[in-house]
Amino acid sequence: MKRIGVLTSGGDSPGMNAAVRAVVRKAIYHNVEVYGIYQGYHGLMNASIKKLELGSVGDIIHRGGTILGTARSEKFKTEAGQEKAVQVLRQYGIEGLVVIGGDGSFRGAEKLSQKGIATIGVPGTIDNDIPCTDFTIGFDTALNTVIEAIDKIRDTATSHERTFLIEVMGRNAGDIALWAGLADGAETILIPEAEYSIDEVVDRLKRGHRRGKKHSIIVVAEGVGSAVEIGKEIEAKTGYDCRVTVLGHIQRGGSPTAFDRMLASRMGAFAVECLLKGEKGKMVGIRNNQMVATPISEALAQTHTVDLSLYQLAKELSI
Ligand code: ADP
Repeated sequence: MKRIGVLTSGGDSPGMNAAVRAVVRKAIYHNVEVYGIYQGYHGLMNASIKKLELGSVGDIIHRGGTILGTARSEKFKTEAGQEKAVQVLRQYGIEGLVVIGGDGSFRGAEKLSQKGIATIGVPGTIDNDIPCTDFTIGFDTALNTVIEAIDKIRDTATSHERTFLIEVMGRNAGDIALWAGLADGAETILIPEAEYSIDEVVDRLKRGHRRGKKHSIIVVAEGVGSAVEIGKEIEAKTGYDCRVTVLGHIQRGGSPTAFDRMLASRMGAFAVECLLKGEKGKMVGIRNNQMVATPISEALAQTHTVDLSLYQLAKELSI
């Protein structure tokens, strides 16, 4: 393999740049040329492509977002769109492709592999919702952003003796809410993977109040529903003053943590190793601190699960 391409796709996540840097530097180290494809699959179909050199990825390891840009493309989901992408790759002599993104992007990568382009996926999403890897690039940074925000809100919750609901991202996965809630000592954590009853939440709040606790933090995963609505329900049932903060897109940005930079560097380099070994249609992952490669089809056939023992632990520690 003499020439490969790299693109970022779907929602951006902190650490994608570190992954792009690793792909480029590792490839050049092995005398393989690298082409950057801009704006994900959209840019691929439109041949928005530029050769990357060692210096092209200098000074980006610490930056959030992605220098390659990212996009969502409906056209790429069609057969015609994928054929066009393959045609562009062939025209540029690009034999292998590294796709950094989430599960949607992996579905696209799988299609390209089936059409003869060796493609390797690198999991980049703050949601940590990809099977066959313990962590995705960006999760740790988002988690730390959430924790910083909750720490600040906690100060006000304590001063004003209020109940605060904090809605965090994660799409259908509760990882960000669970880890942030546990790390921040939240009184209640609501995640889509664990059923809850509003009466139980209310009982916990009342029990806390009875033993003198005047404020509470409730972390709500967006996959559970609107924290505003849940807050209204709690207020109606308790008469407590509830305030809601929806953290939103601040969770997607920012300088990646050391953990995410390490993960991205290892995964990006490992993706290139996989291509050089002749592998295709695989996603890289981290399992027990080791790099692993799993067929994308196998990963996509599974559903991501959260570690429910952590959920139980959070409950036990917040009694
Ligand atoms: P993420 O990769 O973060 O999950 P999306 O789900 O939006 O983000 O997927 C990113 C892009 O991947 C989509 O805009 C689309 O171009 C491509 N994609 C998603 N699903 C498929 C699919 N089933 N087949 C081909 N391409 C897909």
